[in-house]
This record gives sequence, C-alpha cells and structure tokens, in this order.
Amino acid sequence: MTQSGDAPTPQAACGSQLPEPGVWVIASIVPELTAELLGDARRLADDLGVAVNVVDTDSADASARRMIAQGADRVWLADTAVVGAASRLASVARVLPLPRPRFVFAGATGEDRLLAARLAVRCGLQLVSPALLVRVRQRRCEVTALHPDGRRARQIVPAPDQSTLVTLRPGVGQAALPDQNRSGTVNRFSPVRETEPVTLIRTLAADPATTDIQHLPRLVAGGRGVGGPEGFELLRSVAARLDAGVAASRMAVDLGWIERERQVGQSGRTVAPELYLACGISGASHHLEGMSHSRHIVALNPDPQAPIFRVAHLGLVCDGMLTLQALLRMPGPVSRDEPQ
Ligand SMILES: Cc1cc2nc3c(=O)[nH]c(=O)nc-3n(C[C@H](O)[C@H](O)[C@H](O)COP(=O)(O)OP(=O)(O)OC[C@H]3O[C@@H](n4cnc5c(N)ncnc54)[C@H](O)[C@@H]3O)c2cc1C
Repeated sequence: MTQSGDAPTPQAACGSQLPEPGVWVIASIVPELTAELLGDARRLADDLGVAVNVVDTDSADASARRMIAQGADRVWLADTAVVGAASRLASVARVLPLPRPRFVFAGATGEDRLLAARLAVRCGLQLVSPALLVRVRQRRCEVTALHPDGRRARQIVPAPDQSTLVTLRPGVGQAALPDQNRSGTVNRFSPVRETEPVTLIRTLAADPATTDIQHLPRLVAGGRGVGGPEGFELLRSVAARLDAGVAASRMAVDLGWIERERQVGQSGRTVAPELYLACGISGASHHLEGMSHSRHIVALNPDPQAPIFRVAHLGLVCDGMLTLQALLRMPGPVSRDEPQ
C-alpha cells in the first residue's frame, strides 16, 4: 500500500465526452457489502482491463488496507470521517472523475441506496437500482435488475458511452477472498461539508385508503356479490381493521361502486399482496390474472363452484357480507382509522 498525501482529486483529469473507463465503488457503510461490491467491480474491471477505484467517506486506514486486499487498486479516503448524508453525497460527487466513470457500484440498502439515487441525479449517471446480478461476458457487462413494478426482472446492457451506477443488495455481489499481498494506493481527500436541504420532522405511515393498491401488503377486494356501494362501505371497515386497502373486480368498477384505479385483473392492476381477501368475486380468469400470485388468498362466496376457490388458500362457502359483519363484531386490534 502506498500513500499519496496530497494527491490531486481525479476531478482534475477532465477531458473527452466518453466515460472514464475505470470502475468505481462507493464504499458502503456496511463493510461486508463493500467487500461484495469490490468483488463484482474487480471481475468487471479485470475483464475490461481497467483499475478499481473506491471512495470511502470514512477515514480509517485499516479499512483502506482491507479494501485493497478485497480488490481495490486505488482508495480515495476522506481526511476526516464525513458526517451526514448531504456531506457524504457532495464529497463522493467531488471525488468521482470527470468524465464520469463507465461503471460505479454502490450498496442498495437504506442510506447507501439513497446516496446512489442522489448521486445519479447530481452526476448525470444512468441508475440501475437494485441490480440482482451483474455478469461480464466478453467485455460486455450485463445487469439483471428489478423492474420498477417490483415483480419482474429486466436485462440491461449499459451502452459503452454511458456512465452507469449499479446498486447491489447484500448477498447479490460476490466478495473475493482477501489477498493481503495485493498492493494499491491510498489518496486522501478533503471532504465537502454540505447542509441537509431537507429536515425530517417525522415519518408518516402510508394510508392504505389512498395508497396505490400495487404497493399494499393487504387487500380486501369486492365484486358484484357485495351487492352495491354500501357493500364496499362494509369492506372499507374491514380493511381499516386489517390495515388493508380496498380493491375490486371490474364488474364492481363498471357498476360505479368504486374507483377504476382499484380494479384488479387483466385490464386493471396486477397485485401480489401478503393477503388478498376476496368477497363476492366469482374468480373469472380476467380477475385471477391480476391477483393469483398473492401470498394468502381468502375467498368468501356462497357458490361452492366459484372459480375463485381454485386459487384460494382458504375458501369459505358463505354469505360474505354476513361473515364480514361478524368479523367486525369480533374484538381485535383497533386500526388508527376506527373511532375508539
Ligand atoms: C377483455 C376483458 C378484460 C377484463 N378484465 C377484467 C379485470 O381486469 N378484472 C376483473 O375483475 N374482470 C375483468 N373482466 C371481467 C371478467 O371477465 C368478469 O366479468 C368479472 O371479473 C366478474 O366480476 P365479479 O366476480 O365481481 O362478478 P360476477 O362474476 O358476477 O361474480 C359475483 C360473485 O359474487 C358471488 N356472491 C353473490 N352473493 C354473494 C354474497 N352475499 N357474498 C359473497 N359472494 C356473493 C356470486 O356467487 C358470484 O360468484 C374482463 C373481461 C374482459 C372480456
């Protein structure tokens, strides 16, 4: 390991419009994750024939040595530990070279992920977050990432003239066995202090009554069998008790009993909550298409032949409205929306 006390920041090395060819890593606040980021970055850099740089906003020499052993060629280490998300962002942005590196790796957990998103905006990097797999084939990097709908994977091949920031969740990257004989350089930089533009006063939980049904872990869904808009009032009370949102079949939507954005199915939303309680829904294929991947499906229907029972984990052949009224009469946790 060599030290260069007042090495110039790579920002000085401005030039062409093409991305700087190196691979960069933003050290995570979780050391094990940094090791995984470095492992993937190293494999990619070897394939591309370039160096691995890592920016660490912590100032510990020991972590610099560890990161070199894990695959870094150059460590950019803060003079003093950087405190606060805004200062961390500004410091990393200052150290990243211009033109921006072809690949930047960062963690996809909590603070790291937030930093990555803000860094991508500030530095004009294409963001792939979170990535599920990074593969290098014949000098071509392929990233498998989660689709924004959170349910599918998508394949991305970053263009060579694009700077791409890839975030990895813990366990996705593969750390290399540390090699204590590896050599690398350590460059110190002065952190930038920046005040947080936003002050967090308090965090409010999302209200299931207004949240997009695709993002809710529990849904109480109604169809024509609930009998009318008053049936949906009952469903709303049950949903409030379960801290769930209300969804519907297309028939209920077409009848004007509930808003269209709550429709589940082929021509509506696709959902996969932890709990999908279906009441008064027959289970037409068009509806099942949008909810059959739910983790626990409970169906209430008086018709034992109703197709919904084919996908239900718990099926009750009953009058759904009477059953839900009975459920509401049972003592249970009182939701924040219910009068006490
Ligand atoms: C191209 C196309 C796209 C479509 N897209 C969608 C879509 O995205 N989503 C969707 O849902 N549909 C969609 N449909 C419509 C779909 O085919 C069905 O017509 C619709 O899902 C039926 O809605 P339902 O189950 O509420 O009503 P019904 O099929 O009429 O079923 C009502 C059910 O309520 C039960 N019931 C009656 N009384 C009670 C009671 N007291 N308690 C409990 N249950 C009771 C009955 O036994 C029955 O099973 C689409 C159709 C087409 C052609």
